[in-house]
Amino acid sequence: MEQNDSTKQVAAIKNGTVIDHIPPEHLFKIIDILEIGDMDNTVTIGYRLPSGKMGRKGMIKIFDKTEFDQTALEKAALLAPNATVNKIIDYKVSLDKDENGGKPCLPLPEKELRNIVKCTNPRCITNNEPMPTLFTWVDRGDWTIKCEYCGRKIKKENFELK
Ligand SMILES: [Zn+2]
Repeated sequence: MEQNDSTKQVAAIKNGTVIDHIPPEHLFKIIDILEIGDMDNTVTIGYRLPSGKMGRKGMIKIFDKTEFDQTALEKAALLAPNATVNKIIDYKVSLDKDENGGKPCLPLPEKELRNIVKCTNPRCITNNEPMPTLFTWVDRGDWTIKCEYCGRKIKKENFELK
């Protein structure tokens, strides 16, 4: 039977995606990155929700959508690497786990960061030609990446998203 109780509509999600444990300061940027404003889907946004683990957190529930642009997810992961992503299918959380058996998180780029981060070198060709940037990891542990065009190494605190 069709569910008409609006309270239950907010609480339960039949099909969709719940992105939880987002640092509140990055919530609106992630909404922007995932282009949620351009979707027709119903979306519930929680801002500064109380969280035992984080103090305050952001949460996004997107109804009737479980697939997202991979580049957008990777970009969001750079801001919120510990955010959890649960896909709900027919009221059940899909059982995909990450490689460590934990809750699935936003996917950090595996090898390459393709057109996700800007190069900080003003003379880099990617800042002077209309072209995508390409970085590879130097060290995923301390989040250092290297521009494949000019060799500039950039640390996380200097990441500037494209
Ligand atoms: Zn560069």
